[in-house]
Parts: sequence; structure tokens; C-alpha cells
Amino acid sequence: MSTLEHDNNTGQQTNVDWRDHANCKGRLPLFFAPKAERPEARARREAKAKRLCDACSVIAECRTFARENREYGYWAGESEEDRHLLGYRVSAPIGVRTRLAREAAQQKQTA
Ligand code: SF4
Repeated sequence: MSTLEHDNNTGQQTNVDWRDHANCKGRLPLFFAPKAERPEARARREAKAKRLCDACSVIAECRTFARENREYGYWAGESEEDRHLLGYRVSAPIGVRTRLAREAAQQKQTA
């Protein structure tokens, strides 16, 4: 996905990939869960990622891309679970699986 940018010096329009302006360049470990990440660590990691997303100039393009491409990870202030809950298809939303397992365990305890 690319966007057109106007160059004030040349007066020409240039095709620019929105990812060239991503705040998360070089910070990708903040945006994807490591293996066996605990819920508290995930919340801390995603809070740090959210601060970068909130200040990112390409948040709209990024959000659209993640939603349309069923991306994993934290994109534009949204986790897989957030996208799933908003009605966007995600193959296997990690947060949803965790929540369903927790709810099943709680129902077992109360039964
Ligand atoms: S909105 Fe967040 S995830 Fe998307 S490009 Fe910007 S910093 Fe990266």
C-alpha cells in the first residue's frame, strides 16, 4: 500500500509507502508477543506500543492494512483481540483464545 506525497521543492508527486513513516521502525519486539508471554507482560508491552502508535503519522493506513490483511500482533493501537471484537476476521486471535480458556475454567469452578 502506498500513498502519493507532494514534493514542495519539485512540485511533483511521489509514491511513498506508508511504512516508511512508521514510528515502530526498529521497535518490532514491542508489537509481537514473544513465546509464552504472560498476560501482565503483554499488557505492559502493548501499553508501550500504544504510545508509539498514538504519535504515529500513519496510524490510519496501518489500521486499515492490519484489519484487511488479518495481521497478528499489535497494529495501530489494536491487538488481534481488538480487531476480532470489532468484527474483522482474524485466523486465531490469541487474546480471544486466552479469554475463552479463562472463562471455561471459571465455569468449571462454579459448576
Ligand atoms: S500505527 Fe503503530 S504499528 Fe502502525 S506504523 Fe505506526 S507505530 Fe507502527
